[in-house]
Order: sequence, then structure tokens, then C-alpha cells
Amino acid sequence: MARRPISADIPETAFPETGHNHGSCETTLLERASRVFETKGMKLTDLRKRVLEEIAASHEALGAYEILARLSNKGPRLAPISVYRAIDALHEAGLVHRLESRNAFFACHAAHAPERDQVILSCEKCGRVAEIGGEEVFAAMRVVVEKAQFEARRIVTEVSGTCASCRVGH
Ligand SMILES: [Zn+2]
Ligand SMILES: [Zn+2]
Ligand SMILES: [Zn+2]
Repeated sequence: MARRPISADIPETAFPETGHNHGSCETTLLERASRVFETKGMKLTDLRKRVLEEIAASHEALGAYEILARLSNKGPRLAPISVYRAIDALHEAGLVHRLESRNAFFACHAAHAPERDQVILSCEKCGRVAEIGGEEVFAAMRVVVEKAQFEARRIVTEVSGTCASCRVGH
């Protein structure tokens, strides 16, 4: 079988253009959230929705504490544990992902299969995070890991650097 070139399904830039209509990113994600929770027989509770809205407000990653602080600024104080549980539920539902290197969460705007092998790109300048399919990268990782007679449970690939928008004019 002919090998697909690595760049075959990677878009020109995984990051949306600055100044894009982010409102539509948010609406799409919230609609997806209602569907996902309904399918799971779970509720998109008011708190889960508010937490998701907070994370989805940008393409940046937010720490759990930051999410809690932002929500508390807008209304009555919330118990940290309930906010952390809401984040967990959203994370499990695949609506937000964890940026492991910063222990922060970012919204999934890419409606991909839940088990897709992901390469996470994190821009050091604008703080935005994007995800791309990394099938070939993970396949290569598994080969290397198996050679070492190690059984992989989870592979994390995160790349930090500069997105195309941030490189313009530099
Ligand atoms: Zn957007
Ligand atoms: Zn995603
Ligand atoms: Zn950037």
C-alpha cells in the first residue's frame, strides 16, 4: 500500500484566522455539546454549560483555577470541586481537551472521532491551541515504544511554537 504523505490531511493552518467569526465556533460547539450529552444520557447542566462557554470563549487554554476565577467574577462564588467536576465531564465528553504541558483545558472545535490520535499545537505568542490528526506520528511512536518492550497506555504529543498569524510581518 502506498504511504500517504504526512501532510495529506493536515490543513494549511490548523489555527483559525485572527478576526474570524468566533461566535460561530462557540455556537457550533455548544450545539455539539447538547447532542453529545444527550447521546450519553447525561445533562448539559447549567454549570457544565457555563464552564464550556468560558473555555470556548477563545482558542486559548485555561487552567482549572482560571476558569473558576472567571466564573466567580461573574456571579456567586462556586465550590471549586463542582467546577472541577464540570470540567471533567466536558473533558470526558471530548468537548474540551487537556493541554498536558500547561495543565490547562482548551475547547475542541474540530468535531473529530473521540479516539483520534492528536498532535496538539500550542502558540507561545498568542496562546492559542489547535489540534491536528497525527496518525502517522503515533504509529511511529508505537513502533519505537514496542521495540523497547514497553506497553504504551497513552501517548501525548504537544508542540509549542508560533502559529502562522503570529509569524506574519515578523
Ligand atoms: Zn474561533
Ligand atoms: Zn478535539
Ligand atoms: Zn499565535
